Parts: sequence; structure tokens; C-alpha cells
Amino acid sequence: MIAVDEALSLVLKNSSPLTETEKLPISQCLNRNLAEAVEAPIDLPSFRQSSMDGYALCIHDSNDYLIKGEVKAGDETNPTLLPGECVRIFTGAAVPDTANAVIMQEKTIREKSILRVETPITKEQNIRAIGSQVKKSSFPLEKGQILQASGLAFLQSLGIKEVEVYRAPKVTLILTGNELIQPNEKLTRGKIFESNSVLLETALRQQGVETQLISFAEDTLEATINVLKNAFLTADIILISGGISVGDYDFVKQALDNLDVEEIFYKVRQRPGKPLFFGKKDNRFVFALPGNPASTLSCFYVYFLPLLARLKGGQSEGLIRVSIPLTHDFISDEPRALFLKASIQNKSVTVLDRQHSSMLISFAKANALVYIPEHGVSLKRGALVEVLILPNTILT
Ligand code: AMP
Ligand code: MG
Repeated sequence: MIAVDEALSLVLKNSSPLTETEKLPISQCLNRNLAEAVEAPIDLPSFRQSSMDGYALCIHDSNDYLIKGEVKAGDETNPTLLPGECVRIFTGAAVPDTANAVIMQEKTIREKSILRVETPITKEQNIRAIGSQVKKSSFPLEKGQILQASGLAFLQSLGIKEVEVYRAPKVTLILTGNELIQPNEKLTRGKIFESNSVLLETALRQQGVETQLISFAEDTLEATINVLKNAFLTADIILISGGISVGDYDFVKQALDNLDVEEIFYKVRQRPGKPLFFGKKDNRFVFALPGNPASTLSCFYVYFLPLLARLKGGQSEGLIRVSIPLTHDFISDEPRALFLKASIQNKSVTVLDRQHSSMLISFAKANALVYIPEHGVSLKRGALVEVLILPNTILT
């Protein structure tokens, strides 16, 4: 059994980007990582742009300017101004080559065709210089950059239609357990509506990864080996739920050994998620997650996400960690490290009720995990604790 930090560093050490890449239209690149740096094909902005509604003027040594017309956003005109002349101009419009400042309309008084400027002017004020955001032929986005809405819009603003990205990892989910049924089946004694398929498929989708295949296995060695064999045909990553503990009907470890999967680690000194397994066969990774839903998700967030991010071509070290005060006292004599479902509100964190690994209810309300290192703690309200921020969290 290894420590939490050791397990995480083994995940990071063993993961590197997939080698294959593909060129895709930017509309298909949400959550993908760039496989090469992007070169800017144009200056941004590509012309001197007004950043204000006001007047573009050719400075002279009096406060009065003669208004010679207007340039609005999108106009291609380039009126010639002599010192002492100006044009009405609007945000985003092309500043005439002969203008050397833009003055906000609020700082002027207009009388017919004469503009009086009531404030000192400095050269090039309120003008976005050519290339001030990005210079043509520079490399504004590096290899490995993950593309979110802002990144895709940035590429579009450069006129870029497609980019080279790492291909998406192929993930197969395997759910083990004789007790598992779906909501369209009759709930009889001993059966449960299984939820880990939804949990994992959706948590993957939030990372921009569509699950390739979802398989179910009965609790027998033969069935477990069969689904695993099938998964190894195509998957880059196999995520298994349940059957990895030490019960008489837990066959995942035996099946993995049988298929010569190399064990990188098995069992972590943590709660929830002690019987976590991470292994490798050729270039394929296997994560076997304990079946209790809160253990499954906790291990997914803490260990699996960084693996996924790195396979996708990114540089993740795991969930963002911050130090935040507790809203209450907290005492524990648990020898293992704890990941506790928690809620950050008003810059303080509260450990939620109903922490048992079989319970999803607290996870459904959590936006963070409080991390308590091994050997227990006795903390007072206001004490700082290490908190892992869950993905897609908007703090309130
Ligand atoms: P296991 O890790 O197979 O020993 O399962 C531990 C607990 O998790 C048991 O109570 C299982 O019924 C439950 N469990 C296993 N798989 C799932 C699943 N797919 N959805 C919800 N609960 C599950
Ligand atoms: Mg089971």
C-alpha cells in the first residue's frame, strides 16, 4: 500500500501524450490540446483601431479642431487629416493614417463643425496599435495548450480555420457486479440501479472525451477476462468500476494478472478509494476504481484526470489545490489520508454530511474535496486546510 503523493507522482511519471495527431476544424477542437504551436498569419489588430467612441485627430497646438467627416466600424475609408483636423470615430473603426490620437467624446464639446478638446492629449492614445495583441509570424499559443471557448475564439480572430491537435484518447468503461441493473429493469431484492456508468461517462464528457465502449461484466473470472480482452483491442485507457477489492467475488485483479497487465500501484493509504489499481500493458493504461460511487469519483478526479490530461497532450499536475479556512472544528483519528466532499462558500470551506463512500449525495452538492493527510487531525474552526477544487466549479 502506498501513500497518496506517491500514487499521484506515479501517475504523472507514467503518462505522456499520445503520439498521433490530427488536423481538425476549430469547431471540433473544444477541450483538445494543440499538437504544435500556432503561428499567427496576421497582425492582431491588423490596422490601427479606435478603442473609443470619439474623435480621431491630427494634433496641433490649439484646443479647437475642424471636424472633417466620420469613420465608423467596418468603413474602408482613410481620410487625410492636416494638423488641427479630426473625424468622428467609433470603437473598432480604422483610425486614419494621418491621425495620431483618439479623444473620448465625453472629453469634448462640439459646436457644429468645431470640436473643443477639454483635456491634454498624448500621442497614440486610445489607438490599438497594429500587432499590439499578436505580431504576425509570432507563436501566440504553444504546443500542449488546451483549447476552450476563449482559445477557439482567439484562433478564429486570427482567421485560422483548422489546427493540429492530439487525437482524443479512446476510453472504455467496464462495470462489474452481479447486482447492477438499469432503470428500465425491475428493481428486485439485492439489485441496484447502477450509477457508475453515468458518473464516469459524464465526467469524461466534461473533459471533452466521449466514451468509446461501455461493457458490463458478471462477477466471474471468465467474464472479467473476456470484457478486458475485448477492451484491450482498441482502448488507450480502460476504466474499470468495482471488483478490485479483496472479496471472494472480486475478480478484476486476478483477471489483470492473468492478462499480464503490469501493476504500477495497487492500494493507496486513503479513504475513500483504498483498493485503487493503476497499471499498464503495452501503451494501454488500466485504472481499476473501487465500485462505491464516491470512491470511484474521488479516484477519478484525483488520479485519473491528470493521466487523461497528459494523454491528451496537456501538462496537468492534478486538481487545483488551495488553502482555505474551515467553517467548523474537525477531528479525525483516521490513519489513512482523507478526501472529504466539501463545499466552498464565501472563501471558507465546509465538510459536508454523509461522507460514506457508498453515498453520492454529498458529492452531488460538493465543489471541492478537503484533503486531510495521514494520521488524523484535530482542527479548530478557521484553521487552514488543503482543498482540491473540483472541475467545472464556479465558486459562490
Ligand atoms: P465492489 O468494489 O465491486 O466491491 O463494490 C463496492 C460497492 O459499490 C458495492 O456496494 C456495489 O454494489 C457498489 N457498486 C459497484 N458498482 C457500481 C455501479 N456501477 N454503480 C453503483 N454502485 C456500484
Ligand atoms: Mg462488486
